[in-house]
This record gives sequence, C-alpha cells and structure tokens, in this order.
Amino acid sequence: TDLKELLLSRIRDVADYPKPGVMFKDITPLLADPEAFTALTDTLADFCVQNGATKVVGLEARGFILAAPAAVRAGIGFIPVRKAGKLPGATLRQAYDLEYGSAEIEVHAEDLAAGDRVMVIDDVLATGGTAEASLQLIRRAGAEVAGVLMLMELGFLGGRARLEPALDGAPLESLLIV
Ligand code: 5GP
Repeated sequence: TDLKELLLSRIRDVADYPKPGVMFKDITPLLADPEAFTALTDTLADFCVQNGATKVVGLEARGFILAAPAAVRAGIGFIPVRKAGKLPGATLRQAYDLEYGSAEIEVHAEDLAAGDRVMVIDDVLATGGTAEASLQLIRRAGAEVAGVLMLMELGFLGGRARLEPALDGAPLESLLIV
C-alpha cells in the first residue's frame, strides 16, 4: 500500500551497525518527515483503538518515540518500560536472554493493574526477547495484553515464533515485514 511504501522509503539501512555483520534499520529519516510520522502515528493509534487498548506501553528507547504520540492520539495513557535502574518508583523487573548474556527491563508497578488492556509498541521486532519480557511484566502486574504492534519485523530472526506463546492469542501486528 501507499502507507507501507512511504514508511519503507523513510527507513535507512546502515551496514555493520552496531557491530560487523548487522544491517541496522535506522528510523530517524521517518521521524524527521512529518507526513510519514503523522501517518504512522495515526495507524498505530487506530490499531490501539480497534483492539480496545486502555494503555500503551512503549519499549525504551525508540519505542517511546512511536508509542507516546500514538497514545495521545488514541486518547489513552502512555507507560514507559525501561532498562533496569532508570525508573525512580517501585518497579516490577523482568530478565531476558540476549545473544550474549542477559538484560533486564522494568515498569512502575503502579502504572499497570487488573482491568488494563495494554498495547505494546516498539520500532523493530528482532529476536523478540524484549517484547516477550514486556508481556511477562504486563501479566505479572495483573493486566491484560491487548497486542503487540511493531513498525518493522525482521522476519529472518524468528521473533514471531518466540513471541507466540507469550501472546496467548493476542495479535502481533507488524506494519512492515522484511
Ligand atoms: P529483540 O529483543 O527483538 O531482539 O530486539 C528488539 C530491540 O532492539 C528493540 O527495542 C529495537 O529497538 C532494537 N533493535 C534491534 N535491531 C534493530 C534495528 O535493526 N533497528 C532498530 N531501529 N532497532 C533495532
């Protein structure tokens, strides 16, 4: 579609970043283009509304940039899920495995509760580890997962398959799949 072509044309491939052999998807040209960023924001917000989301979780750091305007447009709250050690209040923390080693993410415990339906937004689904951990946090907080919404999915990394059990039937929507 026109939207997909517009978005794709504003994502830049950067070879060997952040390390040799990796083709990094750089979304900064999209953010700098108000037509593309507005169209993206409207599409993300529509998906939140269609799926009955009552809150939007953004994953640090590029997920914040996409999720915050989408939450405002959808008329629902924005909740940051951050790398461990960045949030000042009482948190829930979730560890997950990386290619080498592990990482931890956190959410303010008071930001999510029973009765919330949460849409997770991020820029890129790679291995799916970050998104999977965010779904675990949401459920541990007693909230419900409304879905996972990605600008771009790197299909060859198998993130969709990794995420599937944690989705428990909730939708995973990627606007672009490469
Ligand atoms: P995963 O946990 O799925 O392996 O990695 C996803 C996280 O890494 C996301 O938060 C995403 O922002 C980041 N990421 C991984 N690869 C890329 C990439 O090529 N481009 C961008 N923009 N982010 C990436």
